[in-house]
Amino acid sequence: MPAAVTRGAAVTGAWRSAASPRLVDVSEPLVLGIETSCDETGVGIVRGRTLLADEVASSVAEHARFGGVVPEVASRAHLEAMVPTVRRALDTAGVTLRDIDAVAVTAGPGLAGALLVGVAAAKAYALALDVPLYGVNHLAAHVAVDVLEHGPLPEPCLAVLVSGGHSSLLLVQDVTDTMVPLGQTVDDAAGEAFDKVARLLGLGFPGGPAVDRMAKDGDPAAIAFPRAMPQSYDVSFAGLKTAVARWLEAHRGDVPVADVCASFQEAVVDVLTTKAVRACREYGVGHLLLGGGVAANSRLRALAQQRCDAAGLVLRVPRPALCTDNGAMVAALGARLADAGVAPSPLDLPADSSMPVTQVIARGALPGWHS
Ligand code: ADP
Ligand code: MG
Repeated sequence: MPAAVTRGAAVTGAWRSAASPRLVDVSEPLVLGIETSCDETGVGIVRGRTLLADEVASSVAEHARFGGVVPEVASRAHLEAMVPTVRRALDTAGVTLRDIDAVAVTAGPGLAGALLVGVAAAKAYALALDVPLYGVNHLAAHVAVDVLEHGPLPEPCLAVLVSGGHSSLLLVQDVTDTMVPLGQTVDDAAGEAFDKVARLLGLGFPGGPAVDRMAKDGDPAAIAFPRAMPQSYDVSFAGLKTAVARWLEAHRGDVPVADVCASFQEAVVDVLTTKAVRACREYGVGHLLLGGGVAANSRLRALAQQRCDAAGLVLRVPRPALCTDNGAMVAALGARLADAGVAPSPLDLPADSSMPVTQVIARGALPGWHS
């Protein structure tokens, strides 16, 4: 069990937690992280750069019959899962609420109702415990999480964040302060494209893991699907999805599903890795970081590694459980903000569904917002 931490008067010493065999320096802040931007209720506990607990309750099964995340269903699931998930995380970390030094929460971007549940819970915990509250940007958290696995973040670095809701190419100068958006999707997100193509093929929801599995037996060069917007750092996947739909219509009754999956997947990961490597070169950055649910894709990981090796770049990809939405990433960013001495958010911080990536931490109420 950890030594008790007296807030404001850090107790030094070391202990080993069940989740982390590494020695833990108890003089570092113990941060509770809460993530509810989409369909995962994530609660993580981090001390400094050490992961102590990462509990996730997903409502993904409740959305499966709709073929996509239903916001109201997700919000209600967060409400039911919040307190039990916090309890599980505390148990796993072997700490109590009284040990928590700071609370961090995803303030945006994401589904408004889903975000509200996490933000309200985080405010309640921070107020009750009398600890600082950091309302953080979901995308910055996807970047910061890598420190839990691979140590201090190389800054500047290039980050490709690809999930069901985002496809962003970011120049990360300082994850606590400055993230420059270089490109994003102009239509569907990468994960959304995987989900829609899987639906066309009757592979269920979420589609990414199923397409990834099927593609292993297919030929990525079997069908020449389009690569859109080659000159830009923005990406577009809607035309690719339509090309797959047209191809399926034309080959009704005789569909080599594995080849379709492999060729579609190749088009997505080819575009993402080509642009990422080009951006690294143009901005003189030596490290590329992948994050978001699509970063769990085996072909994206392999091709990114191959192209980074060829270009002399270092690739950093967190393990799949840290790529999909989770609370540990929020706690990791909170710990980094605390360490950097960044002022916490006020207790009236809003849930901001369209929080810009240039804003790492939420400040006061939105203009025109009334509590
Ligand atoms: P969000 O819930 O905000 O979409 P997640 O980080 O939970 O973000 O990512 C979920 C998305 O990742 C889904 O669109 C899913 O299909 C996709 N995904 C998960 N695993 C894979 C994979 N192996 N290959 C491709 N896409 C994947
Ligand atoms: Mg999700």
